[in-house]
Amino acid sequence: MKKKSSSKKLASKKHKKEIKRKSKRKESKLYKEEAKRKLGAVERAISLFPKSCNICKSIFTGDDHSLDAWNLKVINDSMILTCEKCGNDN
Ligand SMILES: [Zn+2]
Repeated sequence: MKKKSSSKKLASKKHKKEIKRKSKRKESKLYKEEAKRKLGAVERAISLFPKSCNICKSIFTGDDHSLDAWNLKVINDSMILTCEKCGNDN
């Protein structure tokens, strides 16, 4: 009968949904761990990143112009940031 076969189809569809939901949960957990790890790396990078010019102590604002004009050098694993003005004086 047609009715019977359609209800069977529905059941298998439901089962598939169940499997999909379970794997999705696993993925989201993995994603969270990955995001956490990435966030930690970003936080470390930000904490190491100088917030002001190494010479005149001008605050680095991080806007588009500053990103282009300021100079970042890495010397012995420490980051030396110099502003537009001090970078040009060198
Ligand atoms: Zn400076």
